[in-house]
Amino acid sequence: MDRPAAAALGADLRKHVALQPADLVPDGLISPADAAALRPVTETFRMRITPQMRTAITRADDGVGLQFVPDRRELNVLPSELTDPIGDGAHSPTKGITHRYPDRVIFHVTQVCEVYCRFCFRREVVGENGVLPAGDVAAALDYIRRTPAINEVILTGGDPLSLSPRRLHEITTALAAIPHVGLMRIHTRVPVVAPNRITPEMIAALTAPGLQTWLVLHTNHPQEFIPEAVAALDLLRTAGVPLLSQSVLLRGVNDSVAVLKSLFTTLLRLGVKPYYLHHCDLARGTSHYRTTIAAGRALMRALRGQISGSALPTYVLDIPGGFGKVPITADYFDGGADGRWQVTDPNGGTHIYHDPE
Ligand SMILES: *Cc1c(COP(=O)(O)O)cnc(C)c1O
Ligand code: SF4
Repeated sequence: MDRPAAAALGADLRKHVALQPADLVPDGLISPADAAALRPVTETFRMRITPQMRTAITRADDGVGLQFVPDRRELNVLPSELTDPIGDGAHSPTKGITHRYPDRVIFHVTQVCEVYCRFCFRREVVGENGVLPAGDVAAALDYIRRTPAINEVILTGGDPLSLSPRRLHEITTALAAIPHVGLMRIHTRVPVVAPNRITPEMIAALTAPGLQTWLVLHTNHPQEFIPEAVAALDLLRTAGVPLLSQSVLLRGVNDSVAVLKSLFTTLLRLGVKPYYLHHCDLARGTSHYRTTIAAGRALMRALRGQISGSALPTYVLDIPGGFGKVPITADYFDGGADGRWQVTDPNGGTHIYHDPE
C-alpha cells in the first residue's frame, strides 16, 4: 500500500491493532504510567500487534509478550549495533533487491508487517515506506529476468503476506513466466500472527504452474500457536505448500532447552520443518535479547539426541556487513590430523573415529 492508502487503512484498523503503548493499557500489558514513558521507544521503533497475538499474550514478560510489547531497554543502543545489521544495502543492484548469493535474490516487496517484532533485524526500515512502488517492482523483475543465474526469488520485506492476494498474484505470475526462475520462497509471520489472511484466495495467489513455492514461517515460541494459527498452517499444508520455519534465538523468550524443544517438536507436528535458528542480529536497541554464541551452541548441543534430528534447525550467524550466513556448529569434532578425530557424543562422552584409508 502506498502512503495515502496506508493512512486510510491505518485509521480503519486502529480499533483492532495496537499501535501505541496506550493501546495495551486495557489489556493490562502496560501500566498507564509506562504508556507515557514508552512513547520515546515507539517513536524510535514502530509498534504493531495484531488482535490474535494480543490474545496469545498472558503477561508482558511471557514468551509472546516479550516479542511485541515495547521496552525501555530498546533505547539502550550499543556502539556495536548497526542500522543495517546483515548488510542488505551492500548487495542491492536495484531498489528492492538484495543479491548476495549467485543463485538467489531477496525481493523486498513491502516494508509493512502485521506485527513489528521488538528485535527485528530490519527495524530501521520496516513500516517506513509501505509497499515497493510499481516502477521499482518492474525494475526488480527486469533485473531478475536479465540475470539467468537467479533460480530462486525470496519474497520478504516487511512481510510479503501483508500484500493483497491480487498484488501477490501479479508477482507470482511474473516470476513463473521467467524461464530460469523455478523457485519462490515466502518469508512470513502471517500464518501465525494474522492467520485470517491465509484464505484459499491467498494460497492460490502464491502458486503458479512452473514455479515451486516454499513458505518459511518465522516463529519463536510455542505459545504463538493459537488455534487459528494451527488452522492456517493446516490449510497451507493441505494445499501442498512445503513449510519450513525460522526462529531467532532470544534471551528470555526461547533460550532454554525446554522452550526450543517444545517449539521445534510442535512445528514438526504441524508439518513444518525447522530450518534456521538465527543468532540475534546486531540491530540497534536489541542487546537485552541477545545471548552469547557459546550459550546458543550449548543449547544446540543439548537438543541433539533429545529430539528428532528432523526437528533440529541449523543455528546460523548472518555475518554483520553482508558477508552471508554461516552455521554456528556445536563443536563435536577435535583433532583430525592423519584422519584421526575425537568425537563428542550428545551426552558428553568422547570417542575416536578414524577416516578409512
Ligand atoms: C538469508 C538470505 C538468503 C537466503 O539464504 P538461504 O541460506 O538460502 O536460506 C538469500 N539472500 C540473502 C541476501 C539473505 O540474507
Ligand atoms: S515480521 Fe520480520 S520483518 Fe517484520 S518486524 Fe518481525 S522480524 Fe521484522
